[in-house]
Amino acid sequence: MLLAGGRRRWVPDQGEPAVLRVAALSGGVRGLFTDDDSGGGGSEPTPAELRELQARADALARDVAVMRERLKEQPDLPRGVRGALPGTVDDALTTAAQRIGGAAEKLARVRAARGPGSCTAWWGVCPSCGPTLRTEDGRSWCRECGAGWGYDRSQGPCGEPATFMAMDAQGGTAIVCTAHGRHMQERLDGGLLLAIPTS
Ligand SMILES: [Zn+2]
Ligand SMILES: [Zn+2]
Repeated sequence: MLLAGGRRRWVPDQGEPAVLRVAALSGGVRGLFTDDDSGGGGSEPTPAELRELQARADALARDVAVMRERLKEQPDLPRGVRGALPGTVDDALTTAAQRIGGAAEKLARVRAARGPGSCTAWWGVCPSCGPTLRTEDGRSWCRECGAGWGYDRSQGPCGEPATFMAMDAQGGTAIVCTAHGRHMQERLDGGLLLAIPTS
C-alpha cells in the first residue's frame, strides 16, 4: 500500500479536480516508490538506537586509549607488549563511531521526510527545477539553479510538500510534490495526476 497507515488520505474536492493526463513508467507508479535493495529482517532501527551505538563505540575508543597508555607505562613489560595497542586501534573505533553517527543522521532525515503530507517519491529532485540534481561525495546540487544540499538528496523519500496524487493505469497511487508531479506529467502515459485540494 502506498497510502500507508498514518499518511493523510487524499479526499476529492467537491469541484472537478484538476486532471492531467499522465503515463505509466515501466512498472507503473509503484516502481518509483520502493527501494529495490531493501531486504527483510528485523524492524527498522531508530536514530536514537544508532546514537546509542555511537556512544558505545566512542566509550570503547576512550577505554582502549586509556588501556594503551597504561600498557605503555609498564617498565617491567617487554617493549613488544607495551606497544601492543597502537593508536590506530582507538582511531579505528573513533572512525566507526563517526560512521554510526552519520547513519543516525541519514536515518533521521529519511524519517522526517516520510511525515504525513510529504512527497513519497524515492528519488530526489530540485523543488524548483525537477530531475536536475547532481550528487558527489554525499552532497547534492541542482545543475539548473545552483541550489545545494549538504547531504545526498538523490536517494530516499523526497519529503517535499505533496501537491498531487499520481495514479497509474493499474490503479497504483502515490502522493507527490509539484516537481515530481510535473516530471511525471511529462513522462507517464495511461495514468492520472490529480491536484490535491488545499484546505
Ligand atoms: Zn534547481
Ligand atoms: Zn517530490
